[in-house]
Amino acid sequence: MTDRTALDAWLLIVGAGPAGCNAAAAAAGVKRDSLLIDPAALAGGNLPRITHLDNLPGFGTGEAYAQALRSHLAGLDGFCSYVQAEAEQIAADDHCVRVTLGDGTTLTGAVLVAATGVRAARTAEVPWVTSDADFPQLASSAPDELGQHVVVVGGDRPLGTWLRTHPEAVQKLTVCHTAAEAYKVEEVQGDPRVRLVSVESVGVAGRGPFAVTVARSDGGREALAADSVVTNAGNLPVPLPGLTTGPDGFCPPDRQHPRIMTAGDMSGRLAQRVSVASGAGARAALELYSRFGQQVVR
Ligand SMILES: Cc1cc2nc3c(=O)[nH]c(=O)nc-3n(C[C@H](O)[C@H](O)[C@H](O)COP(=O)(O)OP(=O)(O)OC[C@H]3O[C@@H](n4cnc5c(N)ncnc54)[C@H](O)[C@@H]3O)c2cc1C
Repeated sequence: MTDRTALDAWLLIVGAGPAGCNAAAAAAGVKRDSLLIDPAALAGGNLPRITHLDNLPGFGTGEAYAQALRSHLAGLDGFCSYVQAEAEQIAADDHCVRVTLGDGTTLTGAVLVAATGVRAARTAEVPWVTSDADFPQLASSAPDELGQHVVVVGGDRPLGTWLRTHPEAVQKLTVCHTAAEAYKVEEVQGDPRVRLVSVESVGVAGRGPFAVTVARSDGGREALAADSVVTNAGNLPVPLPGLTTGPDGFCPPDRQHPRIMTAGDMSGRLAQRVSVASGAGARAALELYSRFGQQVVR
């Protein structure tokens, strides 16, 4: 058993998005201290990017929820500290976990929650798209940059956010999504600006206007002309050496060392939501408490 004085905190948390912050809050709830490690100046992860949040009761924007989390963590009576740094590597053995930071410093804890989130997949990383260009992300595209007819490659969640953020947008969006993404595009059904097309593959040629060839899931084919093409094809995990990844590149919590849990968007392709990440972070901290909570007491 590792002596308490050898540890920087009982719980090391890599990534201070909603999953990481809720892991810290849950650990404090059982009187265990934590260190949140993130290169950003403020905790919150992706939350500030969500300008319209309509699926987390009580919060209209991601920033409002981020502020509530920061204020909660600041009031935890010293149970949670923040280290502004990027983790380069994690490791675990029978006694403790270690995080190596970019400057070579090593932090030590009893247990670790990894919650480094995801990044948007680039066009070239989407296996069902053929194109010789990398298109901009829908989420970071302003309506006046897009022209009238837009083909959206992928039906990921930022689509709904974009439509709610830009109620004034008059573009016609043809959203080409896979069958696996059908649950994600449900929320934009009925928006007159959107046409949803379930596809097997998409090919894009030209430089604007673009010639888009679509092989639909029902076996039909379509040829579309588009003023612009944007990517909205989901995410890939932010890798952290020391974690075990599954065949899809994500990092399931049950594949890790017993002292490590993953949480939030990085843990799986499905259900990438603020509420899910928040619950998963809290659950990860409490699961680790049930395994190793008696190792050290603050
Ligand atoms: C544009 C947009 C709109 C969205 N809209 C909605 C919505 O309306 N409703 C909804 O429920 N969800 C929405 N989401 C999804 C939601 O943001 C995520 O599900 C949620 O933020 C995931 O939380 P997380 O804690 O797993 O990861 P994140 O919030 O991504 O946080 C991960 C953190 O890890 C840090 N990190 C990464 N690598 C390292 C490292 N090596 N060392 C240390 N720290 C690291 C990052 O800096 C970041 O702070 C949206 C996402 C986007 C991008």
